[in-house]
Amino acid sequence: MHRDRSFPALRPLLAAAAAAAAFALPASPAFAQQKFLTIGTGGVTGVYYAAGGAICRLMNMDRARHGIRCSVESTGGSVFNINTLRSGDLDFGVAQSDWQFHAMNGTSTFEKDGKFADLRAVFSLHPEPFTVLSRKEANITKLEDLKGKRVNIGNPGSGTRASMEELMNALGWTTRDFALASELKADEHGPALCDNKIDAFFYGVGHPSANIQDPITTCGARLVPLQGPAVDKLVKERPYYAAVNIPGGLYAGHPNPTPTYGVMATFVTSAKVPEATVYELVKAVFDRLEDFKKLHPAFGALDPKEMIKNGISAPLHPGAVKYYKEKGWM
Ligand code: GLU
Repeated sequence: MHRDRSFPALRPLLAAAAAAAAFALPASPAFAQQKFLTIGTGGVTGVYYAAGGAICRLMNMDRARHGIRCSVESTGGSVFNINTLRSGDLDFGVAQSDWQFHAMNGTSTFEKDGKFADLRAVFSLHPEPFTVLSRKEANITKLEDLKGKRVNIGNPGSGTRASMEELMNALGWTTRDFALASELKADEHGPALCDNKIDAFFYGVGHPSANIQDPITTCGARLVPLQGPAVDKLVKERPYYAAVNIPGGLYAGHPNPTPTYGVMATFVTSAKVPEATVYELVKAVFDRLEDFKKLHPAFGALDPKEMIKNGISAPLHPGAVKYYKEKGWM
């Protein structure tokens, strides 16, 4: 939650000094007033981590005025971030729009915990096409070719993994349809692919992403289109999916778009986070959106009018609404 706390790194030092001098330390007013917020992201080689870093960077520029110190945590991804928002251990998180929807409705992975009624949307970010990258020697050119192969289906807690489960259900597949269904984190899937430990991985991510680019340049990995009746049915039936392309020209050897389907990356919080905190964060991002867009190539096409509605199924947090109304966007 939004909490006041002293710098953790300083705590032992201060405690030791207090013990040695055997007198009570006076509370430091500067530290006492400092407020902290933490953003849950994903693997350090993904785009969520860059998004959290960019948001905190802009937010911390105004720290003298608002007194909030923003920091980023690398996490398992969307589902972990939503669960951790719910338990109150994170203030903000990045999450795929499909998992925002399911958390709001208490469906799919979130069925056992029920609706997360306090989930609040802040804005959406970049599109996340579902991305399959394969070893060039694996002869995987379409979705069906994944059958019988060694496939990384994502770590538990990632949006990637949860969305892969939905795709497997739609295909009528289980993990037994693969020779191996590994659960590596996104930071590990590229090296595993180039080391011939897996034939392909599935990943929901913005583009370009470092952990897609690396295996493409290191070992000539190939993007695989995700199409066919199962994908068509998902896109038709689920409000949060759309048919999209991974744009051409972003990665070496991939001049043409790769057709697939996908979701949006969204930025979410809890109704328990104070209005002023959310307002300051939103202000930091939108007052300097042009700077924000330069902090990662996946953010280049962001447009405020779309960021306040695309991929959003939870109610907007009142702190965000306040800023959007001031801007005349709603
Ligand atoms: N969409 C991914 C997930 O929730 C994370 C992508 C990223 O880190 O950029 O698992």
